[in-house]
Amino acid sequence: VKKHGKNGYRYYSQELDKHLMDRIELEGELRKAIERRELLVYYQPQIRTEDSRMIGVEALVRWNHSSKGLMMPGSFIPIAEETGMIHEIGTWVLYEACRQMVEWHEHGGPLIPVSVNLSARQFHQANLVEYIEAVLAETGLEPKYLELEITESMMMDPIVSIDILNKLNMLGVRISLDDFGTGYSSLSYLKTFPIHKLKIDRSFISEITENDNDKAIVATIISMAHHLNLDVVAEGIETKDQLDILTHNQCKEIQGYFFSRPLSAHQVEKEFFVPLRF
Ligand code: C2E
Ligand code: CA
Ligand code: CA
Ligand code: CA
Repeated sequence: VKKHGKNGYRYYSQELDKHLMDRIELEGELRKAIERRELLVYYQPQIRTEDSRMIGVEALVRWNHSSKGLMMPGSFIPIAEETGMIHEIGTWVLYEACRQMVEWHEHGGPLIPVSVNLSARQFHQANLVEYIEAVLAETGLEPKYLELEITESMMMDPIVSIDILNKLNMLGVRISLDDFGTGYSSLSYLKTFPIHKLKIDRSFISEITENDNDKAIVATIISMAHHLNLDVVAEGIETKDQLDILTHNQCKEIQGYFFSRPLSAHQVEKEFFVPLRF
């Protein structure tokens, strides 16, 4: 320790300073990103296995940073969550996603549901239901075309969660349990939580062709969902072999690079809508 002592510390401290500075800078830039119109919503098609048709999209936020280029949510959503900016960003994403579905439909495209991710802070926000209602009213999207993706980890307090979920249900929006299987929640909650869909996490899919345990878990989740009258979608399908296993196990909806990466609204129009009237 003594040998590197001082220099080691100084080096570490400089690294830390640099890291902190970067982070403070990013935080400041993120604050201005919305008004500067640097945030974008990408859409990843959700596909019906039966006929390979797009039956919905998941909205995934991107940040077109002036010098860093297109940034993925993993590099700024955590900051947004810590600082509370997630409320502003989340509301914007929600509005933009709903607006886009209506625009596509008005231009002769299909009317398809959009799934929007909610962070824990948003889920527990006091006026969540009111602002979702306001966004739906402003954009004119029918509630049944909006699906909210929440995760098990947000459901720590079942009484509070059920209350929020019930209110969202009364609004007529759909609820999907994202990253299913990775949290700690007890299966018994599935009986009481008013949800519509389970989204099987990618971590069970990535090695499904080699790993019999993953295969068994996925088959069981699909079967359980069917027995509970829940829809089920698998995410992270990258190969035909993975798709075949899911189809074989009666999974009717999938999302993943095999069919499409998340795309800009314009790319979705070009690749998935015929005829082109945009
Ligand atoms: P998530 O909700 O689990 O979203 C799925 C992620 O998996 C997306 O990453 C998507 O691009 C990626 N993905 C989809 N198919 C495949 C595949 O076949 N292979 C692989 N390797 N990856 C695939 P993305 O867009 O980077 O988003 C990461 C996470 O950021 C999301 O995970 C979600 O938790 C969060 N996020 C994204 N947009 C929003 C948002 O608007 N609000 C909130 N609160 N969180 C968001
Ligand atoms: Ca999601
Ligand atoms: Ca997910
Ligand atoms: Ca995930």
